[in-house]
Amino acid sequence: MIEDNFKFDKETLKIQSVARNEMRRKINITLTIFGISFLSLLVLSRIFPSTGGFAVLLFLPLLFVNNWIQWRTLISHELKCPHCGQTLAKRANILVSPSPKCRHCGKVALASIQELIQYAQSEKG
Ligand SMILES: [Zn+2]
Repeated sequence: MIEDNFKFDKETLKIQSVARNEMRRKINITLTIFGISFLSLLVLSRIFPSTGGFAVLLFLPLLFVNNWIQWRTLISHELKCPHCGQTLAKRANILVSPSPKCRHCGKVALASIQELIQYAQSEKG
């Protein structure tokens, strides 16, 4: 849920846009690596049928890596809550992906993709 009255300021949107672009780039690289690995394992399982299960096993670490990239991006960019000013993430937790809500004040601290797109468009002119 997005709060009705709150608008992220330009500076916050700028920082979060940079962070999200970096996150997306890293996730794309990861997906490419996993995709190539998956296809390689599929080919391998054609040659050696007993190795077929390994391809399926790749999806679990993919989930963890995805979460880890999201947390690391929040941490490395030192993203702060626009409401209370506290740091949004200190430690990565690979079991869950980061929430858009601040863990200190509970308000929505990360702009939605929609808001970031609108910001990017307004910057283009
Ligand atoms: Zn907060």
